[in-house]
Amino acid sequence: MNGFMYRNGRWEEAMDGRRKQVTNPATMEAVGSVPIASREDVALAVDAASEAFPAWSARPAAERSSLLYRAYEELIKSRDEVAEILTLEQGKPLSESKGEVQFAAEFLRWYSEEAKRNYGEMIPASVPNKRIMVIHQPIGVVGAITPWNFPVSMVTRKLAPALAAGCTVVLKPADSTPLSAVLLFQIFDRAGFPPGVANLVTGRGSVVGAEFMENPKVKKITFTGSTEVGKTLIRDSAQQVKKLSLELGGHAPFIICDDADLETAVDACLISKFRNAGQTCICANRIYVHHSIMSSFSEKLAERTGQLKLGAGLDPDVQIGPLIDEQALEKVDLQVQDAVTKGARIVIGGKRWKGEGLAGAFYEPTVLSHVDKTMKICSEETFGPVAPLIVFSTEEEVLQQANGIDYGLAAYVFTQDLGRSFRIAEGLEYGVIGVNDAAPSVAQAPFGGWKESGTGREGGQYGLAAFMEVKYISLGIG
Ligand code: NAD
Repeated sequence: MNGFMYRNGRWEEAMDGRRKQVTNPATMEAVGSVPIASREDVALAVDAASEAFPAWSARPAAERSSLLYRAYEELIKSRDEVAEILTLEQGKPLSESKGEVQFAAEFLRWYSEEAKRNYGEMIPASVPNKRIMVIHQPIGVVGAITPWNFPVSMVTRKLAPALAAGCTVVLKPADSTPLSAVLLFQIFDRAGFPPGVANLVTGRGSVVGAEFMENPKVKKITFTGSTEVGKTLIRDSAQQVKKLSLELGGHAPFIICDDADLETAVDACLISKFRNAGQTCICANRIYVHHSIMSSFSEKLAERTGQLKLGAGLDPDVQIGPLIDEQALEKVDLQVQDAVTKGARIVIGGKRWKGEGLAGAFYEPTVLSHVDKTMKICSEETFGPVAPLIVFSTEEEVLQQANGIDYGLAAYVFTQDLGRSFRIAEGLEYGVIGVNDAAPSVAQAPFGGWKESGTGREGGQYGLAAFMEVKYISLGIG
C-alpha cells in the first residue's frame, strides 16, 4: 500500500518526493511506503489547519457531532481492512487488531456525543449588578504525535476530542506504523470533514515535532510516546509556552493478594502481560505475588504461558507477534540476562524465537521468578513478553515497592477483600487502577499518568477539556 499525506483535503507527496518504506516486523518484507515530510511540508499542513479553524470552530456542535458519528460508522464498516494493515505494519495478532479498531471507533462515537456537552458555568457574583460567566473555547490548531504500539486507537483518542472541541488538527503517526493512519484519514475523508480540519503528515518525529513546536500557529501539542521524548517537548515548549498533553511511559505493578481468585488473576495476568507481545504502556511490568500463593501462581502462569502460540499476526492461531524491531528485542534480552545474573530464575522462555520463514524479532513468552528491585527489569520499561514475579508479604511493603518508581500510569490489584481493594487502590500513586480488572482503558474514563508518566488526561470529559481554553467573562449589567 502506497500512502500519501493528507493536506487540505488532498492526497499529496512530500515536496521533495522522498518516501520511507514500511516493513512487516514479522517477516521483514515491505508492506508499503509513505512520504517523508520536510518542515515546509508540515508548515503547509499547519497553514491548512489554521485556515480551516475559524469556520470549523464556529460550526454548531451538533454538526461536528454528526461528522464524528459518520466517521465512527465508516471505521466500523472498514474494520477488517484497517485491522489487516495494522497487523501487517505492527505485528500484533489479527484478533487484537480488530479489538483495537473497535476501541478506536469507540472514541469517535463517544466524542460525537460529548461534542454537544461543552457546558459553561454561571458563578454567583458578590454584587447585584454583575454576572460571572465561564465558557470553554477550542484552543486552535493542534499538533498530534502518536506511537507505534497502538497506531489506530492512539490517533482517534486524540483526534475525536480535538475535533469535537472545535479544534483543527495535524497528525503525525509513528514512523514505523503510518499506513493504518492513512486508512483512518481515508475514512475521515469519506465521512465528509471539510478540507483542512484534519490533516496527516508522515515523517520523522524530530522534524515534525520541531515545526509543531516553533510554528506559532500550532497552539497545542498532544503527544503519546516515551518519557524521554516527552521531557524534550516539555523543555522546548518553554519558548512559546506551548500547551502540552503528554501520555508517556509506564511500569505497572500488578499485585496479587493471598485472597485473590487465582484463576481470575492468572487469566488477567496473561492478558495484561502478553497482549501486543508486552508492548503496552499499561501492561503488567512488575508482578507482585503474595508469598503464600507464589508457587501455585507461578506454576499456573508458566503452564498457560507455554501454550501461547508465536508467529505472524495474520495466522488466526497466533497469540504473540514479533517485537517491533531488533533493537527492542535486544533491550528485552539484556533485561532478562541482567535479572538472571542477579539471581532471577527462568521458569519458562528466556530466549529469542525463530519461526520458519519469519525473519522478525520474536522473543519467547517468558516468566521469571526470584526477581527483586535491584534488577533493571524492575525500573526500566520492558516492552516485551516477560513476566517478572516478585514476592511480597504485607500490604504496606507491596505499596511501598509498587510506588517506588518514577512512573505512575497504570497499576492493578487482585483481591476479594473490599476494604483491601480500596486501601491498595487509594494508596497506589498511579492514574489508572484496575481492581480485579486487567483492561481498564475505555473511551469514557480519564486515562493518563502521575509522575513521569505524563500530564493531562485522554478520554471522558477530561479529554474534551484538554482541547479547550477557559474564558471567564465578568458582566456588568448596570
Ligand atoms: P517515541 O517517543 O520514540 O515516539 C513516539 C512518537 O514521537 C513517534 O511518532 C515518533 O516519531 C515521535 N518522535 C520521536 N522523536 C520526537 C521528537 N524529538 N519530537 C517530537 N516527536 C518525536 O515512543 P514509541 O517508541 O513510538 O512508543 C513507545 C512509548 O510510548 C513507550 O514508552 C510507551 O509506554 C509509550 N506509550 C504511552 C501511552 C500512554 O497512553 N501513556 C500509550 C502508548 C504508548
